[in-house]
Amino acid sequence: MEKFIPDEARLKSVEENYKAVKSRVEEAALKAGRKPGDVRLMAVTKTVESAYINRAIEVGADLIGENRVQEYLGKKDELKLDGVEKHLIGHLQTNKVKQIVGQVDMIESVDSLKLAKEIGRVSENRGIVSDILVEVNVGKEDSKSGIYMEELEELLCQIAGIGGVRIQGLMTIPPICESESEVFGYFETMQKAFADIKDRKLENVNMNILSMGMSGDYEAAVTCGSNIVRVGSAIFGARKYF
Ligand SMILES: *Cc1c(COP(=O)(O)O)cnc(C)c1O
Repeated sequence: MEKFIPDEARLKSVEENYKAVKSRVEEAALKAGRKPGDVRLMAVTKTVESAYINRAIEVGADLIGENRVQEYLGKKDELKLDGVEKHLIGHLQTNKVKQIVGQVDMIESVDSLKLAKEIGRVSENRGIVSDILVEVNVGKEDSKSGIYMEELEELLCQIAGIGGVRIQGLMTIPPICESESEVFGYFETMQKAFADIKDRKLENVNMNILSMGMSGDYEAAVTCGSNIVRVGSAIFGARKYF
């Protein structure tokens, strides 16, 4: 294979972008009366070559998110992952669970009992417990995975009874919105559900993490209580799909 030579200008812009997004996240947190340290910035690395990801890590990224199992496993040996947390954020097929369990610190995209059971089964076989988030399709879009809000509590209670998995919170990708107020509406719906479930103190259901907000709307998400914002293109530039 030919050696990949990273573009210096792009490396520089990854560095600048990461720092700029990081400070905007901190400012948004302060503005919302929150502590800047309460919101984590995830660098979303799908389609991005390892050299650029490593530059983001060098300038402070300590949480990365990948969408595809295959892509992540193919890149991970080139990444400087010491002290970096890895999350799977893309749709996960049941038949890929064996490959990813134990390779990431969290699976954010759990959207069915069947998938949770398989993660639990594989994790127990390996003597580990996998941290997961349940993905909510807050805008009820056919094109997106995630469960509807109406199904959330039932699914949480079912997953809570499975060994080998530990629910840590919720994840969502809202619809593309025309206006700021529209996206706030979705984020507020999530914030409320997150708080309600937390208040109910359901057994084996932790509500520690609310993962929402991407390049176009992370500041709104921070205002609405997100504590992981998942930012890709605002750090690495527009994605090229091959
Ligand atoms: C790609 C992706 C992101 C980041 O999207 P950007 O708009 O590039 O910031 C966040 N979350 C998930 C689940 C994604 O697939």
